[in-house]
Amino acid sequence: MSARILDGKELATRVRARITDDVARLRAEHDVVPGLAAVLVGSDPASQVYVGMKHRACEAAGMVSRQIELAEDTSQEDLERVVSELNDDEEIDGILVQLPLPDHLDPQPVQELISLDKDVDALNPYTAGRLAVGDPTFFSCTPYGVLEILADAEIDTAGAEVVIVGRSNLVGRPLSNMLTLKGRDATVTVAHSRTRDLAAVCRRADVLVAAAGSAGLVTADMVREGATVIDVGTNRTDEGKLIGDVDFDGVAEVAGAITPVPGGVGPMTVTMLLQNTLEAARVRRGLPRR
Ligand code: NAP
Repeated sequence: MSARILDGKELATRVRARITDDVARLRAEHDVVPGLAAVLVGSDPASQVYVGMKHRACEAAGMVSRQIELAEDTSQEDLERVVSELNDDEEIDGILVQLPLPDHLDPQPVQELISLDKDVDALNPYTAGRLAVGDPTFFSCTPYGVLEILADAEIDTAGAEVVIVGRSNLVGRPLSNMLTLKGRDATVTVAHSRTRDLAAVCRRADVLVAAAGSAGLVTADMVREGATVIDVGTNRTDEGKLIGDVDFDGVAEVAGAITPVPGGVGPMTVTMLLQNTLEAARVRRGLPRR
């Protein structure tokens, strides 16, 4: 293997230590404790795991963490009422509604309802629109984590060819908007399932981001020698093992740097949620972002 391993777990530990210090300082200097509320509807096991991880990370950083668990048959109206109450709750700086919601609930009106100054998951379409017009408020957590991994590894995106495989509103689309902001200045191609000759498109990349949710999609022949490869994908094998979208062993022979799965982007996603909640707590009290 020749590629440098970009260790997201180790970076997450460092960033969380810094956030914990910032939270302690905010409490000491301004008597403010950032608070995150996570709303979980139903009992989807994966969602329970994610909400539990976020809860523990918040508490470890010294933040208030409130988990609101609603029954599977909660109505749209009741869910929206819970979100409205959280909007008005002074103790809460960040609100997230864990997806997916049960089939009878429509996530869009719920996301539109989340106060813009508490939209730490950045899924309110207005928040996404602010980013799209180059005047962002919050960055959505997974693409934000990708940016932090690149910055920490001193991989400059200015003028670089970045290819993102995946155009979802959660990952690919916001990441492309972040990377084309002035100051980041990447030249971005967003590939998807209708892209012709995906391998040739990927080979153009200085930085290749795989966010397709397709195990082993990116193979060594799709990667330019020395490129940076960021694997956002999380897929379960039949044996229950977590693997990414990238054929790690093969690609690590040609890439210059690569993130593993697990231990790459995943730990940074929760970390950036903490960062957004800290920023929300500061901005809501007229303090500068950090
Ligand atoms: P998504 O909404 O299903 O979007 C997948 C995107 O990939 C779509 O744009 C799809 O194209 C494209 N795609 C799928 N298969 C493809 C193929 N064979 N060739 C080219 N493009 C292909 O998924 P998502 O929510 O963005 O998540 C993507 C992956 O990231 C998943 O594995 C998810 O679990 C993981 N994820 C990880 C984290 C983390 O914290 N580590 C966070 C979020 C997501 P079309 O638009 O044409 O269908």
